[in-house]
Amino acid sequence: MKFSETLKDAADILKSAVPDMAQHKVAVNPYNYGLWYTHFTGSSPTLSKEIKRIYDSNEPLTPERSIELFKKFVINDLLVVDKKLEDSYQSVMDSVSESANKTEQSTGNLEQQLIRSLRHLENSNTSDELMTVINTIAEKTRLVSETTREFRHVLNDAQSEITRLKEELKVARAAAEKDPLTKLYNRRYFDNSMETALINHKAGEPLALILIDVDHFKKFNDNYGHLMGDLVLKTIAKVLTDSCVDTNHIACRFGGEEFALILPKSTMREAKILAENILKKISSLTLKDKKSGAAMSKVTASLGLSCADPDDSSTSLIDRADKALYKAKENGRNQIISF
Ligand code: GH3
Ligand code: MG
Ligand code: MG
Repeated sequence: MKFSETLKDAADILKSAVPDMAQHKVAVNPYNYGLWYTHFTGSSPTLSKEIKRIYDSNEPLTPERSIELFKKFVINDLLVVDKKLEDSYQSVMDSVSESANKTEQSTGNLEQQLIRSLRHLENSNTSDELMTVINTIAEKTRLVSETTREFRHVLNDAQSEITRLKEELKVARAAAEKDPLTKLYNRRYFDNSMETALINHKAGEPLALILIDVDHFKKFNDNYGHLMGDLVLKTIAKVLTDSCVDTNHIACRFGGEEFALILPKSTMREAKILAENILKKISSLTLKDKKSGAAMSKVTASLGLSCADPDDSSTSLIDRADKALYKAKENGRNQIISF
């Protein structure tokens, strides 16, 4: 759900939503307010229809149902869209909170004004009837002020909830960029990063790419089992992360037993040094069977390296690194070829 109302519009929605909620005996809690706010923006006909149905049927809005609707009509959208929406939702909550604040302030001022008038009238022996009227007004105003203050608490709770949701969203987003087994960046992240790296390359930055493929991995799985194979992939992933000390380097799982390193700002010479280092580290890994303690066969990898040309696309750069990798396999594996 996208909220782009101005401060004034948000305040107007508040003024319509809260009385409507009160009239229908709907508690002004963070979930319900989120729903009614959305309803009053007129941007979700399905939600408005659902609210009308609740009104017509006199069906009580249980806390469970309220959360369910909130998730469906407010958070779900928030979770799938980008930072812009997240920020706009936050800004609406800020605006609503600010407007509640102002309302409280203005009613507070009114209350004080009336109390002052009351004192004045006391001193000047005004008629009892008039005193009663003014007392009533002062009491009513105090109630308004109290209600508004309570409402602001509710809004503060809503803001904390939104902050918590934003944090959850951040965690979910970070997880969506990673490969669950190796914890390296996944293929989707690789594709996006390549696009960015190529844009920067066209602006004058060097760019290198290394593709890494584990040698005879099928045989390793056949000999030691798939779980042990998984452990090898995790160990290699750690070698890659440890080797990529430059914060510009991006280590990814390209797919299966293949990895890719995007090396923005790296020259061919720097990329070669890094590749040599990785090749050595992988071939000197000592893998042991956890149960028996027996040493397992050595693992090696082949590496294909390429550096971006000014007219390279993501596909052509990957293609060259892949051809280099193929050549490394053809030449006997456990080596680096650069094209
Ligand atoms: P080459 O040296 O030519 O690369 O031989 P290879 O056996 O490594 O290549 P091939 O493409 O024939 O087989 C790749 C193997 O990698 C087969 C597949 O089971 C294994 N593999 C891919 N993903 C995973 C994974 O997530 N875990 C495990 N354990 N194995 C995987
Ligand atoms: Mg492969
Ligand atoms: Mg392989």
